[in-house]
Amino acid sequence: MERSILARGASFDLEDVDIKVQALSRSTRYDRCCHRRNDDSLIYSASGRNGCHVRLFKTLFTNECYHQCGYCPNAGTSNGCSYTPEELSNIVSSLRREGLIDGLFLSSGAGRDEDSTMEEMLETVRILRERHGFSGYIHLKILPGTSRHLIEEAVELADRVSINIEAPSMDVMHELSPTKDYERDILDRQMYIRDILARRSRGSQTTQLVVGAAGETDLEIFQRVVKEYREIGVSRVYYSAFVPIKGTIFEGKQPQLRWRESRLYQLDWLYRVYRLSPEQIKNVFDDYGFLINQDPKVILAGESLDLPLDVNEADFQSLIRVPGIGPESARRIISYRRRERIESPSDLIRLGIKRKAIPYLKINGWVQKRLL
Ligand code: SF4
Repeated sequence: MERSILARGASFDLEDVDIKVQALSRSTRYDRCCHRRNDDSLIYSASGRNGCHVRLFKTLFTNECYHQCGYCPNAGTSNGCSYTPEELSNIVSSLRREGLIDGLFLSSGAGRDEDSTMEEMLETVRILRERHGFSGYIHLKILPGTSRHLIEEAVELADRVSINIEAPSMDVMHELSPTKDYERDILDRQMYIRDILARRSRGSQTTQLVVGAAGETDLEIFQRVVKEYREIGVSRVYYSAFVPIKGTIFEGKQPQLRWRESRLYQLDWLYRVYRLSPEQIKNVFDDYGFLINQDPKVILAGESLDLPLDVNEADFQSLIRVPGIGPESARRIISYRRRERIESPSDLIRLGIKRKAIPYLKINGWVQKRLL
């Protein structure tokens, strides 16, 4: 159905465009910034302005790229396919008119050089905004090494921009992608975006890392992520477990276990949402700097809380460290306690607290016999 929409009012060769849509939309599936609705769909889900749920048409502008990222099927491609700005803006506008999407997620290979490709991506967005009156959400990838005047325009036109840092350090980046300069092409550009965003009242930037392709530890990743939040001011970091793809430089490497990606998201949540400091979090890593396959919040609760925790006395910071209690539910507990005492587990269940929190709590003198 989505594909047939592309035909209506199209002033381009439909068959040609259909091939491009399939090739260039499929190429984005390793990017974690949004989730595919199903295997056939061209539409992805993500959080947009003010955290609202949005449906995005997600595509590369071109799958040609001169970079040599070991994990990427587009590395070194010089005869791939590309849209023209007219084609892509028409497709996005058609999908929006039919009510199938709320916005666009536009990424790209670098083509022959990043500035020429970025100029065409910007031209697409300009046509969309100015000629088609497109007011939907736009997430625009900034290509590593893009010139500053193009970055300024991208931040102006898009709701959100991102540069994938891919690696936690220059050394790891050299393993993953020897053609990129980590400091100059990526970190300097991120800081430039940060400075532009600081002068504006809207917009944000995010980033993404590949996990487990070059032997980097979780501690190295976390230390970089802390800098991303504190120094760059990204609103989110996304993690993508490495999966070897046939025909790529890294095709013979072992895939990364998916739980590592999940544990990094949980760690990220502890830092970003629960606001635990790196010092408070440091004990979740083993002696080699890796996470184990256990919820880091459970590990920290066992180490840092005086268990069982008296649910009628505990402060906010202690409550949010209990597995099954987050900032919202901790606030509900504290607000309830101002009116009356918590007498039983059922009081907590009525407040929406997850059952897995109960073994960690003392409730009106009662303690569940067995800690989880
Ligand atoms: S920059 Fe690297 S990851 Fe991105 S398209 Fe080019 S080769 Fe692939």
